[in-house]
Amino acid sequence: MKAVTWHGKHDVRTETVEDPEILDPNDVLLKVTSTAICGSDLHLYAGSIPEMRSGDVLGHEFMGEVVETGANVSRIKKGQRVVVPFCIACGECFFCKHGQTSLCDNTNPDAPKVEELYGYSGSGLFGYSHLFGGYAGGQAEYVRVPHADVGCYVIPDGVEDEQVLFLTDIFPTGYQAADNCDLQGGETVAIWGAGPVGLFAALSCKLLGAERVVMIDRIPARLTMAREKLDVETLHLDEDDVYERLREITDGRGPDCCIDAVGLDAHGTGIVQAYDTVKRMLGTETDNGTALRQAITSCRKGGVVSVPGVYGGVMDKYPIGAQFGKALRMIGGQTHVHRYLDTLFEHVQNGVDASFPITHRASLDEASDLYETFRTKEDECVKCVMTPGA
Ligand code: NAD
Ligand code: ZN
Repeated sequence: MKAVTWHGKHDVRTETVEDPEILDPNDVLLKVTSTAICGSDLHLYAGSIPEMRSGDVLGHEFMGEVVETGANVSRIKKGQRVVVPFCIACGECFFCKHGQTSLCDNTNPDAPKVEELYGYSGSGLFGYSHLFGGYAGGQAEYVRVPHADVGCYVIPDGVEDEQVLFLTDIFPTGYQAADNCDLQGGETVAIWGAGPVGLFAALSCKLLGAERVVMIDRIPARLTMAREKLDVETLHLDEDDVYERLREITDGRGPDCCIDAVGLDAHGTGIVQAYDTVKRMLGTETDNGTALRQAITSCRKGGVVSVPGVYGGVMDKYPIGAQFGKALRMIGGQTHVHRYLDTLFEHVQNGVDASFPITHRASLDEASDLYETFRTKEDECVKCVMTPGA
């Protein structure tokens, strides 16, 4: 089959690879009908995540039609259209039973490697390195889905792929980021990053009752999309004094909640950026903290800093004093996608347009160019969808 494979920093290719097979009685095979490139794939593309191997099949945002089922699969049937959460969950461990499916104890065969770094490991992830299970991803014509009865979410015929594709990741990720803010109604939320995750976080904050949402980025097309499609306010990272503007907007108090939808490859400027760049090159710092540091210092006392942006290792100049001194509540993590699917599918059926960030559509053959466009954000690119059959 055809698949998008990783070969090193800024090198992805569309190649012919072995067809996937059922390896476990709980697996199904999907014929992929739509798949997307995620900001998380950009961390792989940048070479920021260790334990990738040449030839690994990428992709954790995909949906398709079930073409084969393992002997133990009972709920999911051949012919059904399904979307698949990016995190793989067994459905039976302590964490899955508590709705924390991205922390599943049983789906990451590479857990010992992660335990060395973190103490304990989260779940396996599709297409996301040999730290998280080495599972082949879904930027491919076919994909194997383990624990299919838990992982597959059935979509009725008649609902377009593009309306539900982002239930795999970025819609629940934005929603969890907002949910973690514990909104009661009336809050002001500031969001760093107007990429797909930040945009879905903004949409979700509004769904959950925030009064004002302010998005911060430096890409004009993304800020325009935020204003036009979500009716939120925006600040330009390089042109506005972000801390001062947020302070003014909130009567000198600071936003109630600050969401970091940027993560470890944040863009910075000045001396601190030079410091971060050198330290990352030397390998003594792995994660750029520009966005997170600003979110922490901008947040009001007693507020929430919610972090959907991915971090992987260690960061210098983490403002622990500000976090402590302002009694902030910090929360982040991979998204427990399964937990939100019913709620979000209901929103889609009630008319929420979950396809709004899509700007680029292509075939799998165009993956290499598409990754580059998505990385540079040129051509007003916000979100890319690939159709394997095209
Ligand atoms: P993206 O790369 O398309 O968007 C990131 C945006 O941040 C860009 O528009 C960029 O211009 C902006 N940015 C960079 N530096 C900034 C700064 N210092 N301040 C403000 N904005 C800045 O990525 P995306 O798809 O929107 O994903 C965003 C983050 O969410 C990534 O880190 C991704 O890995 C993560 N993510 C996490 C989960 C999860 O489960 N927690 C799931 C999906 C994605
Ligand atoms: Zn993703």
